[in-house]
Amino acid sequence: MKITAVDACVLTVPTPKPIALEFPHHKLVVAEIATDEGVKGLGYSLVFGGAGAESVLTYLETRLKPLLLGEDPLAVERLWDKMYRGDRGVRRVGIAGMALSALDIGLWDIAGKNAKQPLYRLWGGATDRVACYGSGGWGKYTEKDLIAEAERYAAKGCRYYKMKIHDPDPLANRRRVESVKKALGPRVRMMVDVNQKLDVTANIRQAAVLEDLDLVWYEEPVLADDLAACGEVAQRIRIPVATGENNYNRFEFRELIERKAATYLMPDVCRANGYSETLRIAHLAAAHQVQVSPHVVYELSIQVCGAISNGFLVELMDWMPEDLFQEIPQCRDGFIALPRKPGHGLELAPGAVQKYRTA
Ligand SMILES: [Mg+2]
Repeated sequence: MKITAVDACVLTVPTPKPIALEFPHHKLVVAEIATDEGVKGLGYSLVFGGAGAESVLTYLETRLKPLLLGEDPLAVERLWDKMYRGDRGVRRVGIAGMALSALDIGLWDIAGKNAKQPLYRLWGGATDRVACYGSGGWGKYTEKDLIAEAERYAAKGCRYYKMKIHDPDPLANRRRVESVKKALGPRVRMMVDVNQKLDVTANIRQAAVLEDLDLVWYEEPVLADDLAACGEVAQRIRIPVATGENNYNRFEFRELIERKAATYLMPDVCRANGYSETLRIAHLAAAHQVQVSPHVVYELSIQVCGAISNGFLVELMDWMPEDLFQEIPQCRDGFIALPRKPGHGLELAPGAVQKYRTA
């Protein structure tokens, strides 16, 4: 089998309220990989809030696509390595990591379709359903928005809800968390997300006023570049730390593990160099008894959690319009069943490219 074409574009997809209060749209850098045997692979990278999507597309088109044309798509590991080592002067983090991710996901889609197996089965098949948590709770939500969103997820059976703690006043965050917790009652446990906004000292102060709320985790306390600071926070607060959505490769995750910087690791398959590297990260985590809870894109991440025995929860953020994908896995009773289709099982809906394409 040979790769004959890679067609890539940017889709700009509006979000619904209340998430639109924080991000009016997200962007997807989509790559369709065609082969001489007619099998096609769909890969994409979700660019949250859209920042840098056009640069991801440019890097994919100009630097990575030429490395794939004419190659055997089933040699995924070899092609991953070829792309990862393609430019000595550009590390595969940020823009370049997102571009590589989209192509790696597309290559694996071809591998699954060729084997007539869903990816999680191809990779070992640990479970055919994955528990999820409802996620959102952005800083721009009113308390009413927050509670309505949390209850909407709870109505789908989610036993976990995650919200942001973005107020500069630690006690204001405490009040918001408490209000949601009270509204949800004991059937739902909660997590909080700092989104890198604080330094070590501010995190210690913030976590101290949340300690008694039985939170599952305290997420991304410091700038993702500073693995040492994350380690320090994890040692000094009494809530388990989760992090990793802005870390891009097994080497960064190895350091997080060595520094005992997180109880839960959260690679994002669209950032951390695709399924290939995310699986390596997950297996590395298993060697250290660390659980993996992948960041967003649950429709792609379920394949990873379905393939490993140290998967914890996938992040359900149900922002996508119905006319983007043909069929999107749904949450029922707090779980998402793995699709039975070969590959990752996702196809863009007819007309989605025409409707949402912006580059
Ligand atoms: Mg987060």
